[in-house]
Amino acid sequence: MAAGSFTTDITAIRERARQKMADGPVTGSYGKDPEEVIAVLNEVLATEIVCWMRYTRHAVSATGINRAQVAGEFTEHAESERGHAMLAAERISQLGGEPDFDPATIAGRAHTTYETFADSDLEAMLRDNLTAERIVITTYQEIIRWLGDGDPTTRRLLEGILADEEEHADDLVDLLGA
Ligand code: FE
Ligand code: FE
Ligand code: MG
Repeated sequence: MAAGSFTTDITAIRERARQKMADGPVTGSYGKDPEEVIAVLNEVLATEIVCWMRYTRHAVSATGINRAQVAGEFTEHAESERGHAMLAAERISQLGGEPDFDPATIAGRAHTTYETFADSDLEAMLRDNLTAERIVITTYQEIIRWLGDGDPTTRRLLEGILADEEEHADDLVDLLGA
């Protein structure tokens, strides 16, 4: 490519950037359908809210000799999931979408489920949260592959969340003594 042609491209890019200014960070070079990415991120938002609720409920209810340690880990993870929910919501807003916190549709959009157990059954709680972590590890990997190079910022955001979920799963395995 001749040196001059890149200058020409820059001029065209500058012109395109000035069109549809209200789209903010979404420019003509955005490689996905923003509506599809927003819909997927609203599933992630719902999933993270359900995970925050489940960990919080288990942290409050857990009883027994190992309560302090297990409830402490659940509380830590609950805070992490709430942070993930906020990251998804902020990204939806950046893409021009509406973050959907509607309680009526959260369970239907979430990849994971909300389960409760006897307060003394710490092992069942640990196993259920481990199952949930393994579900999101799978679905987030699929979303990352689907995003490819089309939206590097959303992909990087999900890669960071995925790394946290893998750490959560590892923490739970350690507590289960598996
Ligand atoms: Fe999470
Ligand atoms: Fe997690
Ligand atoms: Mg932890």
